[in-house]
Amino acid sequence: MLLMSGVALGAGISSYALGAFEPKIARKPQYGDQNDVLKVKEELRLKGLQVLDDPKSLETYGSSPNSYHPSSSHSIVVKAFSTEDVVTVVNLARKHKLPVTPYSGGTSLEGHFSGYSENLGGICIDLSGMNKVIQINEDDGDMVVQAGIRWEEVNEELAKRNIPLFFPLDPGPGATIAGGIGTGCSGTNAVRYGTARGEWYINLTAVLPNGEVIKTRRRARKSSTGFDLTKLFVGAEGTLGIVTEVTLRLAPKLPTSVAVAQFPDVQSAVSAVTELLRSDMYTHIQCVELLDVNMMRAINHAGQSNKAFADKDSLFFKFQGSPSSIKETSDLVKKIVKKHGSSRFDFARSKEEAEELWHHRKVALWSAMAWVGDKDVKIWTTDVCVPPSKLPQLVAETKQDIDEHGIISCVLGHVGDGNFHALLAFRNDEELEKVKGAVHRLVHRAHSLDGTMSGEHGVGVGKKEYLVEELGEGTVSLMRAIKQTIDPMNLFNPGKLYPEKDP
Ligand SMILES: Cc1cc2nc3c(=O)[nH]c(=O)nc-3n(C[C@H](O)[C@H](O)[C@H](O)COP(=O)(O)OP(=O)(O)OC[C@H]3O[C@@H](n4cnc5c(N)ncnc54)[C@H](O)[C@@H]3O)c2cc1C
Repeated sequence: MLLMSGVALGAGISSYALGAFEPKIARKPQYGDQNDVLKVKEELRLKGLQVLDDPKSLETYGSSPNSYHPSSSHSIVVKAFSTEDVVTVVNLARKHKLPVTPYSGGTSLEGHFSGYSENLGGICIDLSGMNKVIQINEDDGDMVVQAGIRWEEVNEELAKRNIPLFFPLDPGPGATIAGGIGTGCSGTNAVRYGTARGEWYINLTAVLPNGEVIKTRRRARKSSTGFDLTKLFVGAEGTLGIVTEVTLRLAPKLPTSVAVAQFPDVQSAVSAVTELLRSDMYTHIQCVELLDVNMMRAINHAGQSNKAFADKDSLFFKFQGSPSSIKETSDLVKKIVKKHGSSRFDFARSKEEAEELWHHRKVALWSAMAWVGDKDVKIWTTDVCVPPSKLPQLVAETKQDIDEHGIISCVLGHVGDGNFHALLAFRNDEELEKVKGAVHRLVHRAHSLDGTMSGEHGVGVGKKEYLVEELGEGTVSLMRAIKQTIDPMNLFNPGKLYPEKDP
């Protein structure tokens, strides 16, 4: 029997399946050279595709202002507007043996869309222009979109057409449906609606490395036909296929309201959450977000709120349902948070106030940067996730660790899911090293509590070194074997997700 607990998971699986799926990916993949880059550029232009090759664009598309992992410029950026465009690019990439990195919203945080290497960046396909709504099936509660559409645009489009449905996965501002599939995203709504690993993508259209276009399923809401190929692409970080169209499952839009409770310390806030999630009003709690005292300072400092908050560890709640169930839930929450030491419970007085409060949560990263107030400051954003009951221990130990190393930080997170985020500030190389150390210890702490290195941001280049520790050699070998079967030339987003065999 495989023991599924903490570090034992890795050990258990390793001893069971080590070497069972030895991949045949060449250790040093043989790619084309600069001549191939020139040829591909020419052929793409001849075919009428929009190509960018100025150094600034190549660098911008290969790096992120929110990630401090090593990054490389691409050799070519090409804009795709249809599945056919993507097929054209993939076929040329295969002919000339050039790496291909899909890019959609560019908001991912772990170096996911960096170019392949300093010497050969490869081709970046920008799918952000594939942002059309193809079909809305209101009666079926689904919607077909091009994959480069932003999640906010999906919901704006439904609201504009007065359709009382919405898509509940809400990653970072500006993130797209394709990118959310790539990273296995979630967001504030995950407490109630789950994550990208749920059933929100009914089917996908994907272009495979051999140029073939597949659809993973039909539009029926459920299907027990074969195994779930849609999920194969969720969290694959663009390494298995390039997603071009998606059928999204939509949820009915219910009335919501927002409340904020403030606590003497993070542990009290987190223990209130664990009790709340066992309560009988659980289904009316859509979101539970933790913002620690520093994050509240940052929000107050941003000065955009009409409401002044004390600089205290806080929980932001979103309730959903009929007005009477919202009232009943909020009464119960008020009672429970009081029991856990909450000194203040504020219920949003209007829809505008509720929206404003939620906006603060979504732009926390930029408020934190403004709060630190140094023009040279940079913020490393990281997330881990543990079983909710382990969260108080994770938070306490991590805050202590961060303080002991003198790192300026804000702690926040989707605590309803045990998902913890830290925003760690640094100004120079010395402070950067301290931050890297804190992230490293955070990942190990999460593993020791039977958690994961990332609840929603994914692996990219930033966390691939932890994959075997988390999943075990056997599981990682199986992942590599799937990659080898679908992409034998290792063309799609090489260098991400899968750890090097011989680092
Ligand atoms: C302020 C801020 C807040 C954030 N909050 C959250 C949050 O609450 N929850 C959360 O989950 N994340 C959050 N993130 C991280 C980020 O928003 C997510 O990782 C998001 O899913 C990335 O989507 P994107 O469209 O920007 O993808 P990109 O960054 O463009 O790409 C992400 C990955 O998907 C691949 N990819 C892109 N397009 C395709 C495609 N068409 N087919 C196949 N693969 C593709 C890329 O190669 C890459 O590996 C936050 C980020 C920021 C900056």
